Amino acid sequence: MKQIIIDMDHVMADITAHYINWYKERTGVEVDRSALIGKNEVAAFPESEMVRNFLYTPDFFRTAPVMEGSQQVIKQLHKYHQVFIVSAAMEFPQSLKEKYDWLEENFPFLSWKQFVLCGDKRVIKGDYMIDDHLKNLDFFDGEKLLFSSPHNMLIEGYTRVNNWQDVADILLTNEMITEAKTLDTVEG
Ligand SMILES: [Mg+2]
Repeated sequence: MKQIIIDMDHVMADITAHYINWYKERTGVEVDRSALIGKNEVAAFPESEMVRNFLYTPDFFRTAPVMEGSQQVIKQLHKYHQVFIVSAAMEFPQSLKEKYDWLEENFPFLSWKQFVLCGDKRVIKGDYMIDDHLKNLDFFDGEKLLFSSPHNMLIEGYTRVNNWQDVADILLTNEMITEAKTLDTVEG
């Protein structure tokens, strides 16, 4: 059993899709993910100030779409490992309650004791950290898994996971996956 630290924004929550959808609703322009590669996640948009303001909008975090595959894989990780959801929430204090509510809705199999909504992740210890930002991974003592996001695609030298299937391949054995599927069937 390993202690696994999982980030929320751009890892469990598809913040890039959230920005793209929101921007399209307001401008009619659909920004392609490929146009965001290697750029600051907000500054990459043509009217970056507008997108930055979105971050301060009530319900921004509460309404973020769930990253594809995250619910299924985290549910399995939770069965075989010690999972902690660690997210910086204090830069945008309103996000703290929104993130809590979002986790309760989308990851109901996790307990509140597994939620660590904090100011700085440098205090965090564990065996694995899954995060999209080097500012968090670089201070971590355990194994670092860089979760791919347009803003970090040009970074080299880290173990990269492109999606949740990649995470499962590293942290779950075939036996665990088979057993989890059986348990799911039994539990309905
Ligand atoms: Mg993140």
